[in-house]
Order: sequence, then structure tokens, then C-alpha cells
Amino acid sequence: MNHMSDPHQPSGRPVRTCPVCAKPAVERYMPFCSKRCGDIDLGRWLDGRYVIPGQDSPSEGDGDW
Ligand SMILES: [Zn+2]
Repeated sequence: MNHMSDPHQPSGRPVRTCPVCAKPAVERYMPFCSKRCGDIDLGRWLDGRYVIPGQDSPSEGDGDW
């Protein structure tokens, strides 16, 4: 049996997209596509619009009703 390699294997690293404008991120400004988007994101943080996803307290599965 010959195990074939997946021809549809994505080449290279997965492309990360800018969380601000969804453009492909640039390595220099990771995870953003540009410094501008980085500033925008930082501004959101400082503005308090972003809610930091706190540590989800793992609720025990007691009483799913
Ligand atoms: Zn961007």
C-alpha cells in the first residue's frame, strides 16, 4: 500500500489575518497588517470597548437544566 501525500496540503504557514480589517497580516506588524491597524486596535483597548475574555471558570456539569 502506498500512502499518498495530501495534494491539497496548504503550503507554508497559515495566513493570519488582521483582526482590524481582516487583511493578511504582515509579519512586521503581527498580528496586524500595518502599524495603523495596530494603533486602532490599541485604541480600542484603551477605550475600554474590548472586553478581555477572562478565564472561563469551568462550570461543573451539575445541573444543566
Ligand atoms: Zn489591518
